[in-house]
Amino acid sequence: MPSVYIKTYGCQMNERDSEAVAAQLVSKGYSLARTEAVADVILLNTCSVRDMAEQKAINKMENLAGQIRKKRPEVVLGFMGCMAQSRGQQLIDQLPDVDLVLGTQKFHRAADYLDEILSGKRERIVDVAEEKGSEATVRDHILRGNTADKAVTAFVSIMQGCNQYCTFCIVPYTRGAERSRTIPDILAECRELVSRGVKEITLLGQIVTSYGKRFSAEELQDWLGGFLPAVSVDDTEGANGIMHPASMSHSNKPSGLVVGQASSLSAGLPARGLDSGAGCPDGRQDARPTIQRKSAFVQLLEAVHEIDGLERIRFTSPHPKGYGDDLVDAYARLPKLVESAHLPLQSGSDRLLKLMHRGYTRERFSRIIGNLRRARPNIGITTDIIVGFPGETNADFEETLSLAREIQFDNAYVFKYSQRKDTPAASMPNQIPAALIEERHSRLLTLINEIAAEKYERFVGQRVQILVEGESKKNSARMTGRTRCNKIVLFEGNDRHRGQLMELKIQHTGSFTLYGDPAILGLD
Ligand code: SAM
Repeated sequence: MPSVYIKTYGCQMNERDSEAVAAQLVSKGYSLARTEAVADVILLNTCSVRDMAEQKAINKMENLAGQIRKKRPEVVLGFMGCMAQSRGQQLIDQLPDVDLVLGTQKFHRAADYLDEILSGKRERIVDVAEEKGSEATVRDHILRGNTADKAVTAFVSIMQGCNQYCTFCIVPYTRGAERSRTIPDILAECRELVSRGVKEITLLGQIVTSYGKRFSAEELQDWLGGFLPAVSVDDTEGANGIMHPASMSHSNKPSGLVVGQASSLSAGLPARGLDSGAGCPDGRQDARPTIQRKSAFVQLLEAVHEIDGLERIRFTSPHPKGYGDDLVDAYARLPKLVESAHLPLQSGSDRLLKLMHRGYTRERFSRIIGNLRRARPNIGITTDIIVGFPGETNADFEETLSLAREIQFDNAYVFKYSQRKDTPAASMPNQIPAALIEERHSRLLTLINEIAAEKYERFVGQRVQILVEGESKKNSARMTGRTRCNKIVLFEGNDRHRGQLMELKIQHTGSFTLYGDPAILGLD
């Protein structure tokens, strides 16, 4: 059987999609090639969030075509994922050596299409169509593809697509509309992973906090019956299973099923543009069915939390609008939900947040951080920030700097704004010159790094709990794990530590790394 090599660009969702494609191919008899130089099939799983990511994948394919394909003309070359979705046939027109272009709703078709190409039945295949139910197909796990190298952590995709339509972002166009997997389906996958030795699960989605927005309250009740006290469905709910807030009060019985809107940040904000439902293809409002005032996402967290043998739960990426009281409360109540939150800020300027269609203000953003820190004082907070959004003035940028100082993020991904095809921001006036974006990027990064270094320094001398994930990539005498607040910790150990929850004392810090020592515990 042929061997396959998959190179992944971009986020954890892409990593997860690649893993699912690899698992699918392995189950059909393919082997995983260690390098592209020896693979029979080479797939590039692409990212479109910024232009640079697209260019990298295109350059890579040009190199593969120019080098590997020349020596081994039978090698199959393919693009999949976001850029495959957004460019489709154009990719083959531009790069005729490409045999397969697989869109974001078609990962599960990889094996069939490769069979057809390898057997000579079809020369080239482009499939970027929408497919109903595709959100439930990113399911299989390879867990590093080697049973001896047992994985301790796993990603679980809970939803696909995005309805936020931030004006800078291409994701709604490459990943399609929000589609959530059912709770029983997700739980079955999580239970199976735990039975295979996984201790930590990260729930994944483009906007995980929008999970299940389109479920009806009856569906939620059905799936969660086992976790809930006696329930009753309020008969005043609307056809969508979403009750109007005005009719909520009389149905708010403590032990019953309360159907209403979760208290999200968006509640009370003036309805604006696509956030208020105009962007949802089915025209529904930005409301979420709730049971006992908990959104479907919080219900899912609670259900996953019940899995015996699972030690830790993380999720990414959320939207700040999704951090309602129910989610903050979940941090206070659910011990397996670790003290770590990634809240993409994008900008500290209210003016830009509005132009970006983010649906919150800097004041609201700070308030959520305050709530989270009250719920979990040691929580690690990370973020995404874009510099150089069209029209960003010095004053706007100073507001981002001041909010970063005020919030004291543990770390941040700082992105240079990149114009994306067909997004509203691409045609906004006052695009910022590259040199100014560069300068702002460097200033913000310096500030983020200074704050992070101070935060890491504070860990020296402290005891932390880590989940040991495996051998350090750089030094085989060291093992690596992460604290609950998502800091990487290295220590001298060996494979018997893999999968253990260990207490360590932090000795010193490196760049975004802590160095610990388990041996000296108990000597204080
Ligand atoms: N859940 C996230 C949110 O709330 O916006 C979206 C995740 S997005 C795929 C990852 C990050 O890429 C965004 O948070 C944003 O900072 C960055 N990004 C998206 N579009 C961008 C663009 N056109 N230029 C630069 N950075 C961008």
